[in-house]
Amino acid sequence: CGIVGYVGHRQAQDVVVEGLRRLEYRGYDSAGIALVDGGAIASDKRAGKLANLEAALAAAPLPASSTGIGHTRWATHGAPTDANAHPHLGEKSRIALVHNGIVENYVQLRTELEAAGHVLASETDTEVAAHVLEAELAEAGDLSEAMRRTCRRLEGAFTLVAVDAEDPSTVVAARRNSPLVVGIGEGENFLGSDVAAFIEHTREALELGQDQVVAITADGVVVTGFDGSPAEGTRYHVDWDLSA
Ligand code: GLU
Repeated sequence: CGIVGYVGHRQAQDVVVEGLRRLEYRGYDSAGIALVDGGAIASDKRAGKLANLEAALAAAPLPASSTGIGHTRWATHGAPTDANAHPHLGEKSRIALVHNGIVENYVQLRTELEAAGHVLASETDTEVAAHVLEAELAEAGDLSEAMRRTCRRLEGAFTLVAVDAEDPSTVVAARRNSPLVVGIGEGENFLGSDVAAFIEHTREALELGQDQVVAITADGVVVTGFDGSPAEGTRYHVDWDLSA
């Protein structure tokens, strides 16, 4: 439902939780966050209000990190439980991924993954995308290429945002029939399902087009089509104010 991504120089936990609060108006049933921490994913996710996640983070803080993703979920596949909340991890917990929308062919993908020995920890359509992405990353060696390959295997509507435990420099995202906007900062960049996620940090926005993948680092934004061709998105300035 609501998606936030960040890479830069601030504490990603603060930026992500704040972004999720700005997206609360959309409605949701669960919330979660994942940060990249020295070769590992640090994650927490909770059914219920964002306050539940914040209480859990206050009780057991995640490590400092300047790379992170977050999600507020509106369940379509699987009940609103902690286990079904996003982010979802890949088989080896190398990838953490959040998703808006529906992966229509998840039953087929889940069957293929389970036949290959994968153990899925949730009832969601989303978790299969995390497992597929991690497997594609092992083959491709590059997160953007792995995301493009994954998107070519998925059917349905999706915004996906993912991080790789082994590369804190980059957050990668993709969209098909579901919105995704980049917030362009100075020495930092943002991702959101809408500009409310980052508008208090930057008003420079880049809207992704259909079937595009974007990789953001602290200093760069690279957009490609699902087929790997160079792409651009649409740059604009947000000149209105949030009422909240
Ligand atoms: N289909 C996914 C799920 O049920 C994502 C729902 C959403 O867009 O929040 O977990």
